[in-house]
Amino acid sequence: MNQTVNAPKVGFVSLGCPKALVDSEDILTRLKVEGYEISNSYQDADLVVVNTCGFIDSAVAESLDAIGEALHENGKVVVTGCLGARTDASGENMVRAMHPKVLAVTGPHASNEVMDAVHQHLPKPHDPFIDLVPEQGIKLTPSHYAYLKISEGCNHRCTFCIIPSLRGDLVSRPIGDVVREAEKLVKSGVKELLVVSQDTSAYGVDVKFRTGFVNGRPVKTHMQTLAQELAQLGVWVRMHYVYPYPHVDDLMELMNASAVNGYGRVLPYLDVPFQHAHPRVLKAMKRPASSEKTLERILVWRAACPDLTIRSTFIAGFPSETEAEFQYLLDFLDEAQLDRVGCFAYSPVDGAKANEIAGALPDEVREERTARFMEKQAGISTARLTNKVGTLQTVLIDEVDEDGAIARSTADAPEIDGLVYIDYTETPLQVGQFVEVKIHHSDAHDLWGELVG
Ligand code: SF4
Repeated sequence: MNQTVNAPKVGFVSLGCPKALVDSEDILTRLKVEGYEISNSYQDADLVVVNTCGFIDSAVAESLDAIGEALHENGKVVVTGCLGARTDASGENMVRAMHPKVLAVTGPHASNEVMDAVHQHLPKPHDPFIDLVPEQGIKLTPSHYAYLKISEGCNHRCTFCIIPSLRGDLVSRPIGDVVREAEKLVKSGVKELLVVSQDTSAYGVDVKFRTGFVNGRPVKTHMQTLAQELAQLGVWVRMHYVYPYPHVDDLMELMNASAVNGYGRVLPYLDVPFQHAHPRVLKAMKRPASSEKTLERILVWRAACPDLTIRSTFIAGFPSETEAEFQYLLDFLDEAQLDRVGCFAYSPVDGAKANEIAGALPDEVREERTARFMEKQAGISTARLTNKVGTLQTVLIDEVDEDGAIARSTADAPEIDGLVYIDYTETPLQVGQFVEVKIHHSDAHDLWGELVG
């Protein structure tokens, strides 16, 4: 398909074990699908990919020789495979140390990175069928923000949830793929990346936090390193579905840091679905991190990052929840002073284990508890937003109309949190623009302010 007489030609040397062979097959398949020709000779090829082995010394030597030969015979060489991930005694990449002229080096399972390197040094042939699709794919969100999914599935078994039975256990996307997608989104004009998954704190657990490659650099598959990478892209990065494991504390420093590259930062915002506060109910829910001392965690986070906004969701009227346990939850709200909160009356999802728990509560009790919860939270939210009157906020504009503009601050995720209404101004404003606003009014959910500067 797509092959023409002028198709660019790629030579391929495949060394190593069956796993490496599968990687080679994947890369070759992608090259063919994109319209490259595979060449059998160095001289005839426009570029050569060498898939290496780094297992034992003789395999290392054979791989280094193969790279040397390809460089000598052709000159344009992309290296992938296990040897690409190895460093020598001084910590330098073994391939680069011996062959500094190679165009790119990646580790194993890095087909995307290899294809990127090939595209960079040997542009792919024009494809009239897929070249009409924007590079970042088709997005359903407005063009200035986008969701970035980092994993699929979940290793937990919360009793009210059937997601694991629908989507299976956690599968983390390779960190290189995630960052590459983020880069494309930013290139297409996205100003805010919303990191989503079922359990963002668990990113990388399934692959034992293995080292992946981001633009040829080795980077651990881990929430913290991912956040660090995304912070470099010059846009807002908002973390959703973060469970309160101890390593979340490490994010605070990053969230507290001032913006790099203009607005590039991991926002001081955590979406932590607590679901309840009472230990017995959390246990009945089988919540991850339920044994963590939630209030202590919140205090630690706020001490480390005073601007932190904490959003959460809760369930009221879980089967067997007593009035005293519900009251415990309301007291927790008083102490935790969360910024943004959603509460749902327990709803028995077909197939959820929680439906088997004795003590299901009548609809009226579930609804009444939900209403009490929301009333309590409305008071907390109103007080917290009142404290913002008089402050300067950086906001991202979502809409512009004849009355002014509607924007969001670092504390507001799209669709679920509040808004910042900007008074009418003569200054032309644009969707996707960051501006500074001085807040002059607030209510239980939203803020109002005027443009500054
Ligand atoms: S609610 Fe629990 S089981 Fe369901 S996706 Fe979230 S962490 Fe996983």
